[in-house]
Amino acid sequence: MADCAYCGFKGSVLFEDEKVVAALPSSPVVPGHAVVFPKQHFQIVEQAPDETVSRLFEVANKLSIAMFEGLRAQGTNLIVMDGLGAGQKAPHVAVDVVPRTNGDGLGFTWPSRKLSDEQMGLVETQIKDAMLELSVSAAPVPAADAEWKGREAGKHKEAGEPEMEGEGGEGEPKKPRRRVDPFMRQLRRLP
Ligand SMILES: [Zn+2]
Repeated sequence: MADCAYCGFKGSVLFEDEKVVAALPSSPVVPGHAVVFPKQHFQIVEQAPDETVSRLFEVANKLSIAMFEGLRAQGTNLIVMDGLGAGQKAPHVAVDVVPRTNGDGLGFTWPSRKLSDEQMGLVETQIKDAMLELSVSAAPVPAADAEWKGREAGKHKEAGEPEMEGEGGEGEPKKPRRRVDPFMRQLRRLP
């Protein structure tokens, strides 16, 4: 799309492959705030194929770990503003990855700021270096994965916890989804 800010992105690119681009936006909310977006123009997440959505979050997750390692972040926000009602501004799918520290005062009201070229270059290098490190040591650990699944299973047994639509627990029949025309459904939330 010719006038789309992401399709014509010109900023600092940290990583790219055939599906997605990871970059430093020109008006970040904190130093190191990065954005991942598909190379193809999709307005909202549901328009993107599963492989693209998977790749977006794979790359978003790597950026998050790079921020813990490269920027000494104490936490990160991986955020998608998906649709008009969620505050999405640019009509192109993007995952914001925001490094957090205790007392950073950021909350969820994000004033943007201008970085100097020096600050921008520094965070670019720190994240790129950390990403390079991750490319050889990012395999999932089986023990940690098993522990996580155990915790998730325990969580499902808690009384009164609401379940996501269509997500029955093990052994329970799946609830049928209500059929809605996908095009009409999307129209209500396009930015
Ligand atoms: Zn676009």
